Amino acid sequence: MAKTRPYLYYDHVVSLCAICLRRIEGKYTIRDNQVWMYKWCPEHGQSKVLIATDATYWRQGREVYIKPPEMPLQFNTEQHYGCPYDCGLCPDHMQHSCLTILEINDHCNLSCPVCYANSGPARLEHKPLAVIEKMLDAICANEGEPDVVQISGGEPTTHPQFFEILDAARRRPIRHLMLNTNGIRIAREDGFAQRLASYAPQFEIYLQFDSFQREALMTLRGADLRQVRETALLRLNELNLSTTLVMTVARGINDAEVGEIIDFASRQPCVRGVTLQPVQFAGRSEGISASAQRLSLTEVRAAILAQSALFIASDIIPVPCNPDALAMAYALKTPAGVMPLTRFIGAEVLLSGERNTIVFEADPVLKGEVFRLFSTSHGPEGQAQSLASLMCCLPEVTAPAIRYDSVFRVLIMAFMDATNFDVRAMKKSCVHLIQEDGRMIPFESYNLLYRGSLQNRLEELRGEVDLSFGRGLRENTSPGVPQSAIMRRRDLPQPSGALAPQKDVR
Ligand code: SF4
Ligand code: SF4
Ligand SMILES: [Zn+2]
Repeated sequence: MAKTRPYLYYDHVVSLCAICLRRIEGKYTIRDNQVWMYKWCPEHGQSKVLIATDATYWRQGREVYIKPPEMPLQFNTEQHYGCPYDCGLCPDHMQHSCLTILEINDHCNLSCPVCYANSGPARLEHKPLAVIEKMLDAICANEGEPDVVQISGGEPTTHPQFFEILDAARRRPIRHLMLNTNGIRIAREDGFAQRLASYAPQFEIYLQFDSFQREALMTLRGADLRQVRETALLRLNELNLSTTLVMTVARGINDAEVGEIIDFASRQPCVRGVTLQPVQFAGRSEGISASAQRLSLTEVRAAILAQSALFIASDIIPVPCNPDALAMAYALKTPAGVMPLTRFIGAEVLLSGERNTIVFEADPVLKGEVFRLFSTSHGPEGQAQSLASLMCCLPEVTAPAIRYDSVFRVLIMAFMDATNFDVRAMKKSCVHLIQEDGRMIPFESYNLLYRGSLQNRLEELRGEVDLSFGRGLRENTSPGVPQSAIMRRRDLPQPSGALAPQKDVR
């Protein structure tokens, strides 16, 4: 009798070697409800990584929570080397920018051991306002009315023209503006939070908030920020300024605090939700190791279910635009307390019982509303609106009045790194970074291949692709390296040049 392998061969995958970053093949296997990626590099051999601890949930993102990809108004690069060496967005990218990050500086008043941007006090770069204005225009050229733009850095509040930048963003048709901050300036400078509040509504603070413990903060941030967090939140609560707490989660460091932070957040008047980001092993990852501290999306989801009384399994579902990386749950703040959404609409509308089958699938209107709600392209106001229209699809439901400050959202954002890289998921990335030359580069590929000196390796890899196809070497098209090439691409008319912005023809 033929021998069988002790696992299900679920799918093929195109990944990257975590050592040389070359594109290599691999496979997904499922065994004991765990998903593993096995891959093989001709130079560096075999490797394997745990992708999901709950294969049933993970498969829903591949088989159920899928929708036709939404496109930007234009693409910014052509396909020449293959994914992920052509970012972007190239015409084969499968999701528009739900959330666009605009990094305005590299300077920071912290030097966190886990900073993927390698920022710190010694980095003095602040982008000039004129460049930032051009980047804002490039976002609008791609998106028309961008859903969410996040001002980031470095620590953006240390930029000398910080408020002029917020004004410049406000002059554009951006639906929702976010400020990604460590909260130091909010906590330490009187009047700063008040000035921020003048940008509301459609404005939100994305506040670093990893732990209540000194030790964990020292490991992740290199500083005991407990007092800073407390004072910043006090000020934001006084102003009821929409805030999301952002927790970078690492195994054995703060993963036991997931439930406590969600429960704490749900009791803060100004807090509209918590975003949980398993630490991404890119950029500076000092004092933590990929093998010991990596956490998959399903492990973070399991931690929420085990530690917080607020949610049950059917509450936390894959986000259809990028289900490998994102999972989301909603709750409503009511006079009787915080209650998960499914308490109102019935868990069985989202998922039915143990079989985890999707009930709303059969009803296209309901399905449309659920998919719209479970998206990263909302701020609190948009969420409230979307939630209200979902409730309208369910006439039998009696829900409390939905105001923007009564919606509470938990989002897991598990960004891939080289170890668990999957081209399929890469193409669905919906969090993108705008570049000075107008390119829009997905967050995951940016931190692997496009940030600063990482581009040197990218150019080598591109050269290898050209050689393997017998093509002559092309001009280096990376940003920051040859500024002349960048200007030529974006700013001068190019009737049919190879680098002209592309429209999708399919
Ligand atoms: S990640 Fe997207 S933009 Fe980048 S090369 Fe792949 S498909 Fe193109
Ligand atoms: S993670 Fe944020 S706060 Fe920490 S050094 Fe980097 S930019 Fe600064
Ligand atoms: Zn390799």
